[in-house]
Amino acid sequence: MSPSLTNSPIQICPSDHPAAAEERAKRMTHLGFGHIFTDHMVVVPYKEGQGWGQGVLKSYGPIEMDPAASVLHYGQAIFEGFKAYKQPDGGIACFRPEANARRFNTSAARLAMPELPEALFLEAARALITQDQAWVPSAVGESLYMRPLMIATEAALGVRASNEYLFLLMASPSGAYFPAGVKPVTVWISDDYVRAAPGGTGFAKCAGNYAASLVAQRQAKGEGCDQVVWLDAVHRTFIEEMGGMNIFFVFQEKGETVVVTPELTGTLLPGITRDSLLQLAREQGFRAEERKISVDEWRAAVNDGRMTEAFACGTAAVITPVGHVKSRQGEWSINRGETGPVAAKLREVLLNLQHGLAPDTHGWMKKIV
Ligand SMILES: *Cc1c(COP(=O)(O)O)cnc(C)c1O
Repeated sequence: MSPSLTNSPIQICPSDHPAAAEERAKRMTHLGFGHIFTDHMVVVPYKEGQGWGQGVLKSYGPIEMDPAASVLHYGQAIFEGFKAYKQPDGGIACFRPEANARRFNTSAARLAMPELPEALFLEAARALITQDQAWVPSAVGESLYMRPLMIATEAALGVRASNEYLFLLMASPSGAYFPAGVKPVTVWISDDYVRAAPGGTGFAKCAGNYAASLVAQRQAKGEGCDQVVWLDAVHRTFIEEMGGMNIFFVFQEKGETVVVTPELTGTLLPGITRDSLLQLAREQGFRAEERKISVDEWRAAVNDGRMTEAFACGTAAVITPVGHVKSRQGEWSINRGETGPVAAKLREVLLNLQHGLAPDTHGWMKKIV
C-alpha cells in the first residue's frame, strides 16, 4: 500500500486482469440492463462497536460469506441505483447521487442497519467511476448504472439485527432497461397481492420488497401484461406504483395540462426520478399534483377523455408510457396505446439534463471526472 493511500477511506487495489480494450468493446456492443459489470467493485466492512472499516476498491468478483450470514436467513439487505453519464466535454457526472446516499440511510434505519456516512457513499462512487471510466457508454440513453448494496454478514441464527455488515458498490454499463425501448407497456392491476402495507417497508429500498413482488409480476405476465400495478393494501382502491417504478397520470383540465402522481404515504418508494419530474413538469408549464388516485378515477378519466396519458418512471428505465391496462374489472387503453407528448417531452428534458445537453439549473449533476 503506498503511503498516499493510507488516509483514504477507499484503498485502491486495481485488478491484475482487467478486460482488454477489445474485450470491453465487445461486451459493450449489446448493452441491455444489469448483466455486464466493470473490472472493479468497492467493499467496506462494518462491525458493531468499531464502525465502518477500511474500504477497498478491488477486482470485481464473488464474495465469500458464512452460510449462517444473517442476510441469507432474515433478509437484512438494502440497495440503491443511480447513474453516471458521459458529458459533452468528455467528463463523467452522476445524477443526484446525494439523494441516493440519503435514501440509502433511510432504508438502513428501517431495516435496523447502520447508516453509512454520505461522504463515504459518494467517495466509493467517485473511486469506482474514476477507476472504471472506460466502461461509461456515451450514447444518449446509455449510462453506467451504479448499484450500492448493504447486507448483514454476521454468522448468527438468532433473530436480531446483525452486528456485522458489508457495503458493496458495483457498476454496470447499461442501455435500455426495457428491450423494446420507449414502447408503451401493458399493465395488470393486481388485486391478489400487495407490495407494501402501512407500517411496513414500502418506503425502503430493501431486497424483501422485491422478493415479495415477483409472484405478482409472474401473474401479470400470465395475464399477457408486461408489468404489475400495485394498489394500496388497506382499501385496494388507490394506485401506488408500477412494478419497481413510480407512476404519473396526465389530465387535460380546462385547457391546462395537469400531471398527477400518487402522494407519498409511507407505502410508496419516494423515487428520485419522481421528485425530479415533479419539478421539471412545473418548469414546462404543467400543473403538478401529488394526490390519491383510484382505479375508478383512472378508468373514468380515460373514458371521458380527461386523462390523456399515463407513464411510469425510475432511474433504470427513465420514463415508460403505459399503453394498456388490464384488471379483473375490465380493460382500457390510454392514448390509443401510443406514447403521448407529455411523457415524450419530460423524457427528453430529463435525458438532456443528465447527458449535459441542457444547463443544470438545479445543481443535480455531480461531476466525477
Ligand atoms: C427504486 C424504486 C423506484 C424508483 O426510484 P428512483 O429513485 O426514481 O430510481 C420506484 N419504486 C420502487 C419500488 C423502487 O424500488
